Amino acid sequence: MISASRYVLGLILLLALQTASASPFPGYRPRAASTVKVLVQNTAVRTSSRATTYCSEAQVTSIKQAIRDLQLLAGAAEKVLSATGAFQSSPVKAYLGDITANALTSLVNLRYTNVKNFWAGVDIALEEVTDTTAEDNSLYLYCPPSSTKACSSTYGTSYAFASIKGEADAMLNEIAFCPKSFEGHPLADQTRSFQRQKTIDKFTAPSTLGLVLLHESQHSITVMQTTDMSNVLEDVNKASALTPQTCSALDPADKLKNAENVALLAFVAYAGPDRFT
Ligand SMILES: [Zn+2]
Repeated sequence: MISASRYVLGLILLLALQTASASPFPGYRPRAASTVKVLVQNTAVRTSSRATTYCSEAQVTSIKQAIRDLQLLAGAAEKVLSATGAFQSSPVKAYLGDITANALTSLVNLRYTNVKNFWAGVDIALEEVTDTTAEDNSLYLYCPPSSTKACSSTYGTSYAFASIKGEADAMLNEIAFCPKSFEGHPLADQTRSFQRQKTIDKFTAPSTLGLVLLHESQHSITVMQTTDMSNVLEDVNKASALTPQTCSALDPADKLKNAENVALLAFVAYAGPDRFT
């Protein structure tokens, strides 16, 4: 039995104030990632200070699946949104507002193709490490406990977090997965659930880790492969803009700033490409 609140709370809350304290990599300031590494527990040497940031083998398996699902989601967005006239479709209007064909093409290149390319093959190449390396420019993935402030219910429900635009640590090469992010459902289940519903903007918020990863990627200057901070998206209105209803009801300018709008549009493209015609 799945609680309704899990759906309602949607994805991710990005709380930059907590990011610095939650990070196992204080003071780290990198550029483009050369590789992606995930922190796992060293069973031979347990260091209490970092033990709680490790991802379990089950979590690593889920992350790899999420990387593959992200390929499907971003790939569907790329395909569906590249069709002639897509900029005038109902889902695009709902999640991006009025946008020109050229602006949509740019957005697709940056937010879907670019992100898809970043993660391509990482499920295979993901390197499991037991510690971080100073001055390493890899993107690190880790799994903090629910007691971490950014993961706690104090802020709604944080499913994962990356660094965010405008904050001091906005260029950290890391993405954290809170325990809650692993409680979602397979993409196929969420797709079937969507297909049973009639709307493109009032359906039950999907909860699946690949979508979380696509959302977090929009916050990560590392994944976005850019040094332009204007390319890093926000969580507009924090937790209140994380559902299809709230995201599609944002002011037009805010739709283009909100990470979840990008994620949800990809989900609709994947689960309901027919809704764009
Ligand atoms: Zn976010």
